[in-house]
Amino acid sequence: MMKQGFYKLTGVVLRRRETSEGDIRLYILFRKHGPLWVIAPGAARGRRRFGGATEPLIWGYFGCYQSPKQLYLREIEVKEDLWEIRKDPGKLERAMNWARLLVEHLLPGYPCDEVLSVFYDSLYLLDKGLDGSLLEWRFLYRWMKNWGVAPDIWHCSSCGEKLEEAYWQGDVLICKKCRLNGGKAIAQAELSELVCAAALSRKDLIKWAQNKSSKANYVDYNGKLKDILKRSFLN
Ligand SMILES: [Zn+2]
Repeated sequence: MMKQGFYKLTGVVLRRRETSEGDIRLYILFRKHGPLWVIAPGAARGRRRFGGATEPLIWGYFGCYQSPKQLYLREIEVKEDLWEIRKDPGKLERAMNWARLLVEHLLPGYPCDEVLSVFYDSLYLLDKGLDGSLLEWRFLYRWMKNWGVAPDIWHCSSCGEKLEEAYWQGDVLICKKCRLNGGKAIAQAELSELVCAAALSRKDLIKWAQNKSSKANYVDYNGKLKDILKRSFLN
């Protein structure tokens, strides 16, 4: 827990709750502090304080007071409201799913600034109109790579050679030579698309996405990454 006192924290709202007493409780992913619950007593009653600034996915500065018992919200300065996401139900649902994954997997009070950056990066690109399923792959892959649980998409896990086409073997990818039996191949073009989607800088990705027709089946690959992520917590 933080020392008693006033703080100006940077973060993003992951969850929002109103209690029956009219309090607003926010679960915010903060830079340097990780995810924490913040309470704004009575903020949901009468003339509502903070307006729309307590909605999930709001990025900003949060003026807080840490008492001996809990963290209180005093003011919010919105930096990004991600309006293009908010007004599109499909994008909003996508972004809320990412927020939910973070709620499920991040440890309260543990700083994870790299994951915060990865989240910001994908939301920014979603707001700019890039494909949601491609960005979900990027979001999951970069997060998991940071935690050391992402499969290697560059090299065969068995022989270490550079992957051209690849095959899943459990949670890792192997090359054609190392493959023992059947299984659907990830063709070279598809694999290189997965690599680009995960590894390009924000600026290069925007350029690249304009000039390609997508081949990769992101729904499958995103499901695979989510399974690996889930399993990595059971071990
Ligand atoms: Zn191999």
